[in-house]
Amino acid sequence: MSANSLPENITSWHSLEVDKALGLLSSNADSGLSVEAIEQRLQKYGPNELEEQGGRSAWEILLDQFKNIMLLMLIAVAFISGFLDFMAWQANTLKPGEVPFKDTVAILAIVILNGVLGYVQESRAEQALAALKKMSSPLVRVLRNGKLVDVAAKEIVPGDVMLLEAGVQIAADGRLIEQANLQVRESALTGEAEAVSKQANITLPEETSLGDRINSVFQGTEVVQGRGKVLVTNTGMRTELGKIAELLQSVETEPTPLQQRMTQLGNVLVTGSLVLVAIVVIGGIIQARGFSNLQELLEVSLSMAVAVVPEGLPAVITVTLALGTQRMVRRQALIRKLPAVETLGSVTTICSDKTGTLTQNKMVVQSVYTNQQNFKVTGEGYAPVGEFYLDSDADYPIVPEEYPEIASLSVACAVCNDSVLQKENGEWAILGDPTEGALVTLAGKVGIEKDQWLSKLSRVGEFPFSSERKRMSVISQVEKVSTGEASVTDVDPKIAGLLNNEPYIMFTKGSPELILARCSGIYLGTNAAPLSEEQRSQVLAQNDKMASNGLRVLGFAYKPLWEVPPEGADETTEENLVWLGLVGMLDAPRPEVRAAVQECREAGIRPVMITGDHQLTARAIATDLGIAQAGDRVITGQELQKMSDEELQEQVDLVSVYARVAPEHKLRIVQALQNRGRFVAMTGDGVNDAPALKQADIGIAMGITGTDVSKEASDMVLLDDNFATIVAATKEGRVVYTNIRRFIKYILGSNIGEVLTIAAAPLLGLGGVPLTPLQILWMNLVTDGLPALALAVEPPEPDVMKRPPFSPRESIFARGLGSYMVRIGVIFAIITIILMEWAYTHSQTFTGEGLNPERWKTMVFTSLCIAQMGHAIAIRSNNQLTIEINPFSNMFVLGAVVVTTILQLMLIYVPPLRAFFGTHWLPPTELAICCGFSALMFVWIEMEKLFFRFMGKKTV
Ligand code: ATP
Repeated sequence: MSANSLPENITSWHSLEVDKALGLLSSNADSGLSVEAIEQRLQKYGPNELEEQGGRSAWEILLDQFKNIMLLMLIAVAFISGFLDFMAWQANTLKPGEVPFKDTVAILAIVILNGVLGYVQESRAEQALAALKKMSSPLVRVLRNGKLVDVAAKEIVPGDVMLLEAGVQIAADGRLIEQANLQVRESALTGEAEAVSKQANITLPEETSLGDRINSVFQGTEVVQGRGKVLVTNTGMRTELGKIAELLQSVETEPTPLQQRMTQLGNVLVTGSLVLVAIVVIGGIIQARGFSNLQELLEVSLSMAVAVVPEGLPAVITVTLALGTQRMVRRQALIRKLPAVETLGSVTTICSDKTGTLTQNKMVVQSVYTNQQNFKVTGEGYAPVGEFYLDSDADYPIVPEEYPEIASLSVACAVCNDSVLQKENGEWAILGDPTEGALVTLAGKVGIEKDQWLSKLSRVGEFPFSSERKRMSVISQVEKVSTGEASVTDVDPKIAGLLNNEPYIMFTKGSPELILARCSGIYLGTNAAPLSEEQRSQVLAQNDKMASNGLRVLGFAYKPLWEVPPEGADETTEENLVWLGLVGMLDAPRPEVRAAVQECREAGIRPVMITGDHQLTARAIATDLGIAQAGDRVITGQELQKMSDEELQEQVDLVSVYARVAPEHKLRIVQALQNRGRFVAMTGDGVNDAPALKQADIGIAMGITGTDVSKEASDMVLLDDNFATIVAATKEGRVVYTNIRRFIKYILGSNIGEVLTIAAAPLLGLGGVPLTPLQILWMNLVTDGLPALALAVEPPEPDVMKRPPFSPRESIFARGLGSYMVRIGVIFAIITIILMEWAYTHSQTFTGEGLNPERWKTMVFTSLCIAQMGHAIAIRSNNQLTIEINPFSNMFVLGAVVVTTILQLMLIYVPPLRAFFGTHWLPPTELAICCGFSALMFVWIEMEKLFFRFMGKKTV
């Protein structure tokens, strides 16, 4: 059947036999589809993607922008100002040259601009997050052209043969071809929380409901346990999930803690300004003993209301967070939830897995212990070439064939294994778990080829690996002779000694202590014998020796069987095993991790290792990396199990290594740490790590080895699985938060200065408002906004990772930010008010050609703007003097200061701009005086830094 005549309208694949379904889709269970068929089907059915649904509509996003108390106040100001202009226009009391409604139009324009900017930023943030989500979208393992390949989920087509394993999020709907212990959580589709056990070899009535179709799997559901092979029947919007696409999770757009704080800040500012307006109006009325100056007081009130709103702030914050996310992606940390950008900086404890995150996850077997002899194994990477040396004779390699126990152990390594060793571009590489890859390589070094042995010992059953079980077993049928009977003489001599007459054999591998505890016999090279206590302790001693050298050790055993055990009978079948031996592999630490651990410690962050591996292996590696230090404790999962939550809480700050833990222990560890007030980042990769990742303050999933389920539960995905990346992301988080605080100080200090200056004018009896709403908007948006944007990209201060983390729950005003704002605002106001007083008298008395007596207002306007330039330069560092900072290390600040100053001068010296903004020409001397006063602001901040340095106080 050609691709074009594929069955379109079959909805009941579950009622078909597997072979029939394969035939209908022209596919093959052993080789999958051909490249041409895939091409054609991709053309015909399109990519396996769901159309994005949910999220806020464009209108909702736009409307949300105006649900902001500060913008609402501005709108009110615009209308009041418009009303006043209208009255003046009617009464013909407009000043000569004055354009009515200018302020109203300007304010409304700013309100609209702010709304549109916010809208653009937010929708871009949503798109960016959606794109990030796509980047972390899963790879799917499929059989194509007879080869196993990993492809992007969207490239799956009907007819593909897809492989499932624990932790996978299923990428398309399909009919099971085969399965082993397969359990799938289908809550995304059926709402049923319990995992469903799947069965391949049955057909179901057509009308079977979705939840009961146990021979099929569905897109979006999760494999909790086991393995499976699936024939893809439907993709994209034709899947069951596609049919109910509204149920899809929308892109998450939670407001960040900072956005919430900004809303609070807005409320405080608006309330504060209204109180101040009341004081000024009442004070003005009392001063004038009547309502004679009501017009002026109203104008003052309007200006103050505009001045208090930091119009540029929301945009600057959004841009900063977006830039932060981008910088993090460049450092291989993919943010899935926006708040993580800023909260990362607050992490106090990083709990990290060992394998793959702290180590390279490139395993090489170095040591084999079998039949009471220890062998060293040489060789590099996954290439199946290397020599065996007896421990007692390190000079000459042995001939493995002379040691039958090595061959038997190697057969176990090759058969009890799900990974594939293959040559890619001339290099040996593995597809699957590196631990298992190393074992196939080891077998190869002995001449045991996995493929060849899989036909001699075909797999008929298995008890899959899980982090809880810490072991796996494979049951194989022993190759039969032509009579159809398995007999000792007909079995390959390499395994002949393992069997009597049994037709099946089970190989088990896993954590050595656990496997050994399940053994009652031991293999001695040619035959099995009862396992003595002495042999048991010898094995354990050898295991400890290997582990304390940092090796990851696996134990192997076997059991001859008369029949295939039923599914789920692992506990009873994996008993009375015969011990085969130990295999120790090296997984070298990642070279960059040592420095990252050091950096963590300096930054007040405690690294903790949580691993399923043996305590001695874990301790050796943790000590090597600097994670475990003198006095630190190592706790095993068993010990943890016995502890109450309170006991764990008491210990949790002293433990730097948790070994042999199961995923559910991770959750308890996070909770105990959190109860001690720690802010925890936790890594995870397995399907059962999801609860701990969700519970952690920052859940971190592994991009390469992580299961889809763990990624879905995480706040951040490590694209390179590397611990050093967590530390780098933490640093970025700190930089982002520091910069945000920096420009909030910068912007709000100036706002307070403006408000106080405006309030002072009528109280000093200057007769007039120094700043019009239009000029204030100009200051808040342009002369404050541009430098603030530049401050957002300020490079990290040298001590950013040398100070303790800050609580994510601290108030925005904490650590001196509030007092800084008020202090600088007041200084700002004092300097400007002195200038204003002088300029007022001066411009009344010193008049000449082209000089307007109202030009004192322009002097106030100019000095406020120029003072902010000095402020921007000085605020680049909290503690370092400006001369101690490289002026070119943030070219944006320099650029913003130059551009803003030029723009400000244009407002005074370019006639059309002068007319529009209502400014007056200033002679050079007066401009110089403004600059002189403005410079005082810079001087003050530098003096403050010197003063705090002298007092030994460091602001952060
Ligand atoms: P980490 O939690 O740091 O990633 P880990 O890889 O050792 O460490 P798990 O994958 O949970 O953690 O493995 C736990 C233990 O199970 C291992 O120490 C090992 O003894 C055993 N084990 C690991 N992989 C396999 C496997 N493929 N087959 C059998 N046993 C395994």
